[in-house]
Amino acid sequence: MTNFSLVDSNLIWHPFTHQKDKQENIFITHAEGPWLFDDKGNRYLDAISSWWVNLHGHAHPKIAEAIYAQAKKLEHIIFAGFTHEPAIRLAEKLMPLLPGDFTKIFYSDNGSTSTEVALKMSIQYWWNKGVKKNKILAFHNSYHGDTFGAMSVSDRGVFTLAFHDRLFEVVFMDTPTSENIGDLRTAICDLGKDVACFIYEPLVQGAGGMKMYDAALLDQLLATAKEQEIICIADEVMTGFGRTGKLFASEYMTHKPDIICLSKGLTGGALPLGVTACAAHIYEAYVQDDKLKTFFHGHSFTGNPLACASAVASLELLQTETCQQSIQRITQFNVSLLADLAKRNLPIRNLRTLGTILAFELDEGRDEYLNTSGAAISSHAMEQGVYIRPLGNTVYTMPPYCVGEEELIIIKQTFQDAVHS
Ligand SMILES: *Cc1c(COP(=O)(O)O)cnc(C)c1O
Repeated sequence: MTNFSLVDSNLIWHPFTHQKDKQENIFITHAEGPWLFDDKGNRYLDAISSWWVNLHGHAHPKIAEAIYAQAKKLEHIIFAGFTHEPAIRLAEKLMPLLPGDFTKIFYSDNGSTSTEVALKMSIQYWWNKGVKKNKILAFHNSYHGDTFGAMSVSDRGVFTLAFHDRLFEVVFMDTPTSENIGDLRTAICDLGKDVACFIYEPLVQGAGGMKMYDAALLDQLLATAKEQEIICIADEVMTGFGRTGKLFASEYMTHKPDIICLSKGLTGGALPLGVTACAAHIYEAYVQDDKLKTFFHGHSFTGNPLACASAVASLELLQTETCQQSIQRITQFNVSLLADLAKRNLPIRNLRTLGTILAFELDEGRDEYLNTSGAAISSHAMEQGVYIRPLGNTVYTMPPYCVGEEELIIIKQTFQDAVHS
């Protein structure tokens, strides 16, 4: 019989994995609902939705059937000159749900490409209009993906260290607080008309450590940015599709983005797909006689029919009463878990929650990705059959919406026990 672990270790280079002291990867044979099963007969509760992509549980029959049915009809086609039903149905279904006056959907195939597209779309928007704008604005601590453009607008840190010389220049500012909001607004006004676009993860900075910030303050920043004619790009790759308690985090603000980036939960977590939706004025800058004003961007798998079919099925599931109630249940559970953890006098800080996300820092060392204190908690949780993957010393949960009451209790007990030890 094949020794799978050995072959894995010999042949495969896994992402975000230190290769010198690597541990054996857990061999997952199958998964169902929120549960992952390995080859040794263990099961793990997927408390972080497999890197935040899974919405309705694993191997969901409705999504599996939608993909299978589509695979038998049309698995892929060039998306220039051709179109197909799943892409059309998805656009039609998604458009009215989006938080803002969006009129066009541009497909790509993952989160990083959805932000790359948004950046290129914004920069070329000004170029097409013959307006010179040199600056791009982003938040400290942000994460927008691993490709070069996405890295450039992400915070400079351990993920980007080797590439700093090659990344384009971006003006970084802190996320708003009641103390700095005045200064931030002044800074945006000072940069003013020189800024092409502002990209932000609304309300929760995911990979940067599940950092949360205030909606009313972001709303003020967006107001200022809009006054300065800065294109506002909401990167909702992680926050989209119910994670923050609303369908999109941008719904918490009155000022809506001009461009929104979606991926991760878009297909329910079954297949890779990216969406970059834009408002009418962005699109119109591309409708010109001059052929050089075309948006020359695309990917081999742009608008893949299987991925689009999966996304349609996932959206239908998301809109069911059951799923909406489940999001509310997880949201309420998080509020009570937060209260419970807060009163236990545990060595943790910055307890916070928004919607289906709950996070805190272990009170050990500096808040950074290379802090190893999270790893100890993670092994403890795995022993208890709960899969979490702390970001440094930031521990968080963001379960798929199919988790039941019993499973939420398992997460709660794991957090209580793990932090003690
Ligand atoms: C994960 C993530 C990305 C990158 O998505 P990939 O599909 O991993 O390329 C971009 N932005 C945010 C906010 C993310 O959380």
